[in-house]
Amino acid sequence: MALRPYIVGNWKMNGNRAMLAEARAIDRGAQRYRSVQVALAPPFPLLALLHDEVSAIGVGAQDCHAAAKGAHTGDVSAPMLDDIGADFVIVGHSERRRDHGETDAIVRAKAEAALAVDLGVIICVGETLEQRDAGHAEAVVEAQVDASLPCGEGAAAAVAIGNLSVAYEPVWAIGTGRVAAVEDVINMHAAIRARLVAMFGDAGGKVRILYGGSVNGENASVLMEAPGVGGALVGGASLTADAFLPIVAAAAADED
Ligand code: PEP
Repeated sequence: MALRPYIVGNWKMNGNRAMLAEARAIDRGAQRYRSVQVALAPPFPLLALLHDEVSAIGVGAQDCHAAAKGAHTGDVSAPMLDDIGADFVIVGHSERRRDHGETDAIVRAKAEAALAVDLGVIICVGETLEQRDAGHAEAVVEAQVDASLPCGEGAAAAVAIGNLSVAYEPVWAIGTGRVAAVEDVINMHAAIRARLVAMFGDAGGKVRILYGGSVNGENASVLMEAPGVGGALVGGASLTADAFLPIVAAAAADED
């Protein structure tokens, strides 16, 4: 059975307790679109608070450490996220790769740590503008998929139950207002799909591949209709219900 479209809001380092009102509004709105799986990833301080305010949407973190506990000042582990009721974690976002020097190997270790406690995992991949202009976009993203995705039995089990998603986020499209051309999105999603099938067999054909990069209420329909696009990872347009819910509605319309 095909999984529902997955629309995930990444609040990044934005938000405060007053913004929980937006989360409540998103939660209420999401109840009108049951054919879509909706989730928010707020910053760590809001995670438990937001979790307690919502019922229809998933709640996840923007990162976790690869270790379960220990001397890692400032970090948060996957078991800690699980303990407070988080549903999933995003790993390998390009801002983490850039700001914290996260390699594919680190991203894979984080993903495996999250799967070990049955969290859902969204693994981000995407090329820079220089890599795209040089004609290397697909090779770069395929290599990221091969080296960042978890492997082993835990990974196969997560894929089988829909706990693993991939977000294709061209770095140059994040927060810039520039959206990838639909044809390029379709081609890249097909390339990622081929890697997933090579890694996980038939089950890899069902993994949701989200698009991320300046998605908003105006461009969401055309992106959600694109073959192979299983949802969206949304930054700026996830900060208010007014901006986010039209994206959810676009994903629901594509299901009709
Ligand atoms: C993101 O942060 O993953 C993202 C896609 O941001 P934006 O929607 O603002 O481009």
